[in-house]
Amino acid sequence: MIVTLDGPAGSGKSTASKLLAERLRCLYLDTGAMYRAVALQVKRQGVEPKDGEKLKELCRNLDLRFKEMGREMKVFIGEEDVSSAIRSPEMDLLSSRISAIQEVREAMTRLQRKIAVDKNVVAEGRDMGSVVFPGAEFKFFVTASPEARVERRYKERIKRGETVLREDVEKELLRRDAQDKARSIAPLIPAPDAEIIDTTFLDPAGVVGTILEAMKAKGGWSP
Ligand code: C5P
Repeated sequence: MIVTLDGPAGSGKSTASKLLAERLRCLYLDTGAMYRAVALQVKRQGVEPKDGEKLKELCRNLDLRFKEMGREMKVFIGEEDVSSAIRSPEMDLLSSRISAIQEVREAMTRLQRKIAVDKNVVAEGRDMGSVVFPGAEFKFFVTASPEARVERRYKERIKRGETVLREDVEKELLRRDAQDKARSIAPLIPAPDAEIIDTTFLDPAGVVGTILEAMKAKGGWSP
């Protein structure tokens, strides 16, 4: 059984996906973290972000692992915990750039499907319902007003101890969304059969509650 949650940055889909996976006792698949890990390696290895062949090779050699530690899902490249390193503003933008490259998308799509084989999964990203898991039992597209999304991202970054201006957060977030929507392969769009959830006035518990209600209405989760 697969539940997909797609949506733009700051929509609240990550928090909701984690909580939902906990409630349903299934695997939480953070596909944004996978593109971020590729971006980190691109930077470290000095690969040109448009060079499809080099990126293909980089993805082939990428030893990417998720490890559940307590209530957190950590991201490792080999033995190194890169969970924090992949969350920098630089990786926000670089992950978005490299995710538009066909070779990267092919490699990640393959890996995501492999991870999900024979498992119950809550898969979070941009193209989970539209491309990677088109046959998923439950599909959601989580969104919120641009103001609410900027506010959430801004607070997140302040909480992390960064010194940042709200207007810069806004510029970066809107630029990334525009990039994700405009790319020709697997753009950020709701799958035709996805239910749209507007989280502008919902807290994380409210988002999960809404999703669980919608799943119940569709016959419920019975893996
Ligand atoms: O969700 P998150 O902000 O961590 O994703 C980082 C970037 O990875 C996104 O801006 C997007 O460009 C890319 N991504 C993607 N497809 C996914 C998940 C993320 O293209 N399924």
